[in-house]
Amino acid sequence: MATVGEVLDRIDRKAPWRSAYQDDPVGLQVGRRSQTVTRALVSLDRSMGAASKAAELSAELLVTHHPLFFRQLARLTDESEEGRLALFLAERSIALISAHTNWDAAHGGVNDVLAEILGLQDVRPFGPSGPAREAKLVVFVPRESTDRVIDALSEAGCGEIGLYRRCAFYSRGTGTFRPLEGSNPAIGQPNAVECVEEDRVEMLVPRARVAAALEALRAHHPYEEPAFDILPLEDRAPWPIGRIGALREPSALGDFARFVDERLQTRCWLWGKPDATVRRIAVVGGAGDDLWRDALTAGAQVLVTGEVRQHHALAASEAGLAMIAAGHYATENPGTMRLREFLGAEFPEVEWLFFEPEEGEAGRPVVRW
Ligand SMILES: [Zn+2]
Repeated sequence: MATVGEVLDRIDRKAPWRSAYQDDPVGLQVGRRSQTVTRALVSLDRSMGAASKAAELSAELLVTHHPLFFRQLARLTDESEEGRLALFLAERSIALISAHTNWDAAHGGVNDVLAEILGLQDVRPFGPSGPAREAKLVVFVPRESTDRVIDALSEAGCGEIGLYRRCAFYSRGTGTFRPLEGSNPAIGQPNAVECVEEDRVEMLVPRARVAAALEALRAHHPYEEPAFDILPLEDRAPWPIGRIGALREPSALGDFARFVDERLQTRCWLWGKPDATVRRIAVVGGAGDDLWRDALTAGAQVLVTGEVRQHHALAASEAGLAMIAAGHYATENPGTMRLREFLGAEFPEVEWLFFEPEEGEAGRPVVRW
């Protein structure tokens, strides 16, 4: 039977928790990793509406895009909105997981889904996300075992760079050692100096996974005493959260805005000349207006996001970038539905349901009336 801990680990593989913005409290917010899950509810927002629905369905788990706890609480009581919700869930043994900016940035997450719905071609990531907090593992491996060790380290979470996996570098050299009496060398004999053709293998490893990586290393390296170094790194370039791509055909900006309305079932706001011709489109679901400079640098003519504040709309339009505010709900709900599909495929033994509030309720806006 699936557990909350297994769900957390499976999301981590697809959308690493460490790729979230630094102050984004993603992951398990309420409950225990050991809790078993037979039915779960997925929702864009953590709301009393979603929590009540989870309780009504006897779900043991609620997975939301937006986290419950954004600020630190000094007490857990029914006097705060977060407290009421957390108590409601805890009293009913319903766990709460939030997959937020890690799911925005993930391959196949919120922004990939948005690019897909808008029919963008040649989609690639742009813009910042949280820092990666990594180290480098350097290990010396006899040549014939190099692939096996790289595979095992990759399985343990080493060698992930952006949308690439199993990234490693190796260089050839000679390792030498003299085993002592009582040793059990894979190559050589006690008391004889041995020289072995070895590869120096280098892979990035998230600091949180160093212990798991060393366990995998010891299990798959042929030597009794593998030689390795762990080097702390400066935080490297963050994970890109936005996506940029091209429309199949150039379009008038006004027509494109109508297309966004229709595809996302929304009614958007547009800053830009409706008769301008556009093709390069950037997307960032939710509150992504502050990424307009990154979108422009990446070559976009339009940024489609959820919300646009006036000062960003002004600065962007003067810099030559059109902005479309398509609504927070409309730009992130489709990606949250995709999270449900992903979890459904990963855990077919669990019943995965989706919470879609009525228009005008629990954070879902009324688009037309
Ligand atoms: Zn959001």
